[in-house]
Amino acid sequence: MFMANVIEAIWAPESDEFARHSIRAGAMSALELYDAVAGRRMEFVGYAGHHTNCNLLLTSGCSHRIRGRKLVGCSMCDYHSSNLEGWALMRALLKKDPELYARAVRTSFEAVRPDRPAPAFCEQVTGNDCLDPVEFPPQALEVLFQGDGLFAKNPRCYMFEVLASHVTKRSVAEFSRRFSRGQTLFFDFGVEATDWLRRHWINKECGDDQVASAIRVLREAGHYSVADVLIGIPGVTEEQSVRAFLDTMRLLDALGVDRVFCLPLNRKRKTLQGFLHERLGQNDRLGALGLSQGEHTGVPWLFTIVEALCRAFEELPTLRGRLKLAAIRSDQVVIENRLAYNANAACACNEQIVAAFERYQKSGEPAHIFAVREGGSDCGCREAYDRIIRKQTQAGPLAETLATLADEIAQELFPADWEALVQSFREELRLLPSEEASSSHNIQNVTAVSINSF
Ligand code: SF4
Ligand SMILES: [Zn+2]
Repeated sequence: MFMANVIEAIWAPESDEFARHSIRAGAMSALELYDAVAGRRMEFVGYAGHHTNCNLLLTSGCSHRIRGRKLVGCSMCDYHSSNLEGWALMRALLKKDPELYARAVRTSFEAVRPDRPAPAFCEQVTGNDCLDPVEFPPQALEVLFQGDGLFAKNPRCYMFEVLASHVTKRSVAEFSRRFSRGQTLFFDFGVEATDWLRRHWINKECGDDQVASAIRVLREAGHYSVADVLIGIPGVTEEQSVRAFLDTMRLLDALGVDRVFCLPLNRKRKTLQGFLHERLGQNDRLGALGLSQGEHTGVPWLFTIVEALCRAFEELPTLRGRLKLAAIRSDQVVIENRLAYNANAACACNEQIVAAFERYQKSGEPAHIFAVREGGSDCGCREAYDRIIRKQTQAGPLAETLATLADEIAQELFPADWEALVQSFREELRLLPSEEASSSHNIQNVTAVSINSF
């Protein structure tokens, strides 16, 4: 697939480095490997207002990212290019001694939270995919969650990140037998966008059928489903991002998901949005269509996030209690990142909007977000936004926008054989549902509403 080639190319330097670490790790004994990784600190984030902690574990890494010695993975994710050596060492250790691997996973928790701490109400204890039998073999699950466990007493609630495609009756039953009946288990998986965008542009191997099955299996097992959805698809117009978000929310609402975490796209280094900013931020053709915007390339505008949320609340009122916002401040993202902003990241209108998001987070009351949509802003960001929106109408419907982006990405990354790759992408585009492909750009209406309401 076109996007797999793109991500493989973006990660090529890291793949080389990972291969070097893997060769070195392959020559080490299990004990040497254990000594090299034991007690490595991973990220820990405490969300005080939410009574939730996020404990990231050192593991053998995401199996979707690591393909042999090549790194591919989802296009918007840079989870975790700074940890190449750790993945290589842990993969070698896993191969040589799964028991020691399991102990090493546990030491990464203890390095940050020693002496079996008192738990927060909800503890997220996670790697990339807790249902992946490679990343979390039975030995690791046993060392983490059986016997005395990790905490002084059982947390009321646990949250685990998984891939929807790994959620099956069997995998969930095998995983959850380690927890008591009184504990609430949330399983959080990336839905990100509509089916075609998820598989062909985000490069996540997971169809709507697997999302539906994951939600059903979790419900039947008495657990809770949490879907992560992006507001902002790398490269496309602001309006197309809003539409993709709404289509995805409609699907999840119909499937009866328990919670949705909405993530405004943020720009990180080894991602498609990072590449667009770094290499195509000044591209003339994309610039004329508003698809690249200099420094702003690769992150949505905050006005777009507000618009997407308001439209979701208007159309799907039953989602209100279930919709949460994630990563609305930089320090809530464990990797260096640039968050959504308006014309100027330093302008006060950004803080007003983020503060409204936080009020929504606390109260669950959408009125806080409607208030910023209706409150207006006289800082100039709104006019700049309208200019970019008008420009983006030239990018045509989604299929045309994606074809244009693919042209420019391929010429930049694969100058020798870009035409063949673009041709193959056009074949993929034929699978884009016609309604999604040709959805016209109703941004004129949006702009009219927005001008009145900001
Ligand atoms: S989003 Fe999840 S599945 Fe995709 S590459 Fe990142 S860690 Fe792996
Ligand atoms: Zn402003």
